[in-house]
Amino acid sequence: MAQDYDLVIIGGGTGGYVAAIRASQLGLKTAVVEKGKLGGTCLHQGCIPSKALLRSAEIFRQTKEADKYGISVSDPVINFLKVQERKQNIIDTLHKGVQGLMKKGKIDVYEGTGRILGPSIFSPTAGTVSVEFENGDENEMLVPKNVIIATGSKPKTLPGLELDGDLVMSSDHALQMEELPASIIIVGGGVIGIEWASMLADFGVKVDVIEYMDRILPTEDKDVAKEMVRQLKQKDITIHTGAKVAPESLRKETGIEITAEINGEQKTFTAEKMLVSVGREAIVANIGLENTDIVVNERGVIQVNEAYQTKESHIYAIGDVIGGMQLAHVASHEGIKAVEHMADQKPEPIRYEQIPSCVYSSPEAASVGFTESEAKEKGYQVKTGKMPFTAIGKALVHGESAGFVKIIADKETDDILGIHMIGPHVTDMISEAGLAKVLDATPWEIGETIHPHPTLSEAIGEAALAVDGNQIHG
Ligand code: FAD
Repeated sequence: MAQDYDLVIIGGGTGGYVAAIRASQLGLKTAVVEKGKLGGTCLHQGCIPSKALLRSAEIFRQTKEADKYGISVSDPVINFLKVQERKQNIIDTLHKGVQGLMKKGKIDVYEGTGRILGPSIFSPTAGTVSVEFENGDENEMLVPKNVIIATGSKPKTLPGLELDGDLVMSSDHALQMEELPASIIIVGGGVIGIEWASMLADFGVKVDVIEYMDRILPTEDKDVAKEMVRQLKQKDITIHTGAKVAPESLRKETGIEITAEINGEQKTFTAEKMLVSVGREAIVANIGLENTDIVVNERGVIQVNEAYQTKESHIYAIGDVIGGMQLAHVASHEGIKAVEHMADQKPEPIRYEQIPSCVYSSPEAASVGFTESEAKEKGYQVKTGKMPFTAIGKALVHGESAGFVKIIADKETDDILGIHMIGPHVTDMISEAGLAKVLDATPWEIGETIHPHPTLSEAIGEAALAVDGNQIHG
């Protein structure tokens, strides 16, 4: 028998499950259809597992460096199975938490594959959703007034470079490794590639990064990317930019051999394993889009308007499946906005230039707003202030004083255009920059904000003062 709902969400990742909670708060009868596990990529193959492994790698590196803090430790040893067990325990705890939240919100969860069948007889503008179960149980029919597609994304590879899950891996495969390789080639120097490069190097793996563009982290400010390269090189990571991998040259036996063209010359790389991190593609197949007028654009993502409505106004789409900033906090906020829109709450649109993005490598990097080049391309007359962590007492106390905070402001209006950081704990510090953007603060206002001493956040206050040449410690 068909079940009626106000809202059915296809995909229970960060976008989908958060949307469900907001819908329940607003009194909507809600169901989530999830074919994998609640929490999606972020919880099971993304943010959380990668950060758990990064933390273990950091502890290993710091233990090896303990002598510099006056602590003698004999040779630390990695028990990688235990590292993986710790990662899994964190995932399981959080997974239980999400399940609990669904119960608390009286949200029905269907563990199956959701597909939009077409207009529903009860609500001609929405699509009936079928739930198909892996165990062959009869399909369940859900008849919602509204639908949210939150099916997320999956790893991409290069044409001709097949992922076999063992020698040639995506990040999904790499997270499941039972032992560390001695060496690895990482194809792609974006956020995921750089996090893996840093983590594996900290674990003692020899890492080569091969990047097609002329620099790694192409969306970060150039100064940040340059500093990242400098610090990654200190970990003995070799970074090859402007390098075009030739998939047809791949040889796999007990390890990997592959050729890349760099500055017109062929260079051969060998390693035990290869990780391909060249981006992610939206999951738009087999969800019944052919039964609707929903448009998938030339970038392979679902086209939506400012309220996240597709061409079928009662079917919304959010998160990685609509492209843009493919981040967990973006997916969840889009989910909230979509639900508030369908509940007639007239939500404020998300201002994407106010959203922080982070790289959790060591060093960490974090940013909000325009890079200096973007600001100049947009025609702003810019002024910048920079404060190195070398001048910040707490950074020296930490033993991590490389990096800086950089603030870019508009010379004419004093508006902050972008804040960029690289160094210790900057992924936690970036929220102050996000708040400054939301409140439309000027560098003077950040400078007036008293940052406690000694803290790493003093670098933000000083960088703000430095925009007009008024920094105290630089
Ligand atoms: P997903 O989380 O992918 O969820 C989609 C869900 O839909 C999945 O559970 C899937 O099983 C389900 N689904 C798909 N099709 C169907 C169907 N037909 N029926 C039912 N269910 C279906 N972002 C950050 O902000 N910070 C980070 O540190 C970070 N680190 C990352 C590290 C890695 C290695 C990766 C791969 C990603 C990382 N991300 C990070 C990105 C983040 O994981 C995604 O942006 C986020 O998960 C997107 O959420 P979503 O809800 O759109 O999709």
